[in-house]
Amino acid sequence: MTAPFLQVLAAALPDLRLTTDAADLEAQRGDETADLEPPLPLAVAFPASTAEVAALVRLAAAHRVPLVPRGAGTGRSGGAIAVAGALTVSLVRMSRILEIDEGNRAVVVQPGVVTADLMKAVAAHGLVYAPDPASYETCTIGGNLATNAGGLSCLKYGVTRDAVLGLEVVLADGAVIRTGGRNVKDVAGYDLAGLFVGSMGTLGIITEATLRLIPMPAPRQTLLAFFPTIEASGEAVAGMVRDGVQPCTLELMDAFTIRAVNAACALGLDETAAAMLLVESDLPAAAGAEELDRAERACATAGVSLLVRSQDAAEADMLRQGRRMAHWALDAVGVSRMEDVVVPRSRVPDLLRAIHEIGDRRGMRIGVFGHAGDGNLHPCFILDREDPTGAARLREARGDLFRAVLALGGSVTGEHGIGVAKKAWLEPTRGADAVRVMRAIKAALDPLGILNPGKML
Ligand SMILES: Cc1cc2nc3c(=O)[nH]c(=O)nc-3n(C[C@H](O)[C@H](O)[C@H](O)COP(=O)(O)OP(=O)(O)OC[C@H]3O[C@@H](n4cnc5c(N)ncnc54)[C@H](O)[C@@H]3O)c2cc1C
Repeated sequence: MTAPFLQVLAAALPDLRLTTDAADLEAQRGDETADLEPPLPLAVAFPASTAEVAALVRLAAAHRVPLVPRGAGTGRSGGAIAVAGALTVSLVRMSRILEIDEGNRAVVVQPGVVTADLMKAVAAHGLVYAPDPASYETCTIGGNLATNAGGLSCLKYGVTRDAVLGLEVVLADGAVIRTGGRNVKDVAGYDLAGLFVGSMGTLGIITEATLRLIPMPAPRQTLLAFFPTIEASGEAVAGMVRDGVQPCTLELMDAFTIRAVNAACALGLDETAAAMLLVESDLPAAAGAEELDRAERACATAGVSLLVRSQDAAEADMLRQGRRMAHWALDAVGVSRMEDVVVPRSRVPDLLRAIHEIGDRRGMRIGVFGHAGDGNLHPCFILDREDPTGAARLREARGDLFRAVLALGGSVTGEHGIGVAKKAWLEPTRGADAVRVMRAIKAALDPLGILNPGKML
């Protein structure tokens, strides 16, 4: 069936870029998720328009050929990895910014736009696209929408879903629907945009998005706070949340990560500290200073040992380097396996304690950093490069971590998604009845099961 399908596709859509070249298949096989061994895709299609996507999906449905939508392949849960016998549909050629609507503070984009390109384009109009995944220089808006990506400013500005006004989506039968548009309020019917955001390509292919923009805030002022215990840093986060301090960034790094960052780029961060918080305000000068004063008071109450405040924008940028480098610095220490878990923000101290207990119990090195203000941390398990027991110990430690997170009322993924990597943990997280509802939605929207099969459910 497969080769004939490609012939039908090529004949029906002669302008569609379609490749079975071995190097192309290899390049589109995996994503940034470790320890997966995906097969090669049947072929890779690079549609250039909504009409081409719709026609392609109609043909795939007629021939029962599964499809894997794909953006830049930076995903960390295996959402875009190839599926045996499936056509991978890369949206990267649909990369136009269609309109910047300053009057409505909105932008209309195709899914293949790289997030950084969108940010740059709207900045020229004094506007900001607020969701800011750390991968913004490479990931695409389509991937951000399909994973409901988070980032470093979610605490104040929300996640990708909060920036969505409307979507254009190609359904599993090739029909094209629009959900929402430029209205900031619109409650006609079910919230279909909300349904497609975070659905990881299992319910439809997003071909256009209308996104909310905000006015450019003031340059950021930055504070680093070092703590003698990991719990104290968690208490400071909980204290800020309790006191209503809402900085635009509230990030954490533990001692292991601090040392790794210093080793990688000699930033001179305080290595005697057990943890560090990066706090940023983007309020105008005096208000920003006042916000950081309030953050400092919460840190002092929690028992901070050292506070470092930026004097100007260049120094602020230098102070934030450490957090930017955390992931790469840990990767230099050993084989780093990053996790993505979230708990209610008041439980951050408990989560940090639980992570370190797991490290002690399993004899594993764990570096922790992440979006503490959202309760969303990225514990990174560091394996030795030549350790035959590493994979098994990692599996056990991950199980411990997810059980601890669920016991704290959290979730096994804050922003990377279930994908294939955490499928086994969806039901323990959401419950059997909720997963039954998800399956019913999937069956209603994709009765043939051709959209990204085997992902999430
Ligand atoms: C260094 C690094 C840092 C990262 N930092 C963050 C972070 O701060 N926050 C965060 O949330 N994530 C982060 N990620 C993970 C990743 O970048 C995000 O999940 C991102 O949103 C994926 O975008 P992408 O274009 O690479 O999508 P892909 O990986 O190609 O795809 C991701 C999912 O979206 C689906 N998809 C893609 N395009 C479409 C479409 N048009 N229609 C329907 N489905 C589609 C795919 O099928 C897949 O399920 C990071 C990754 C790396 C490598």
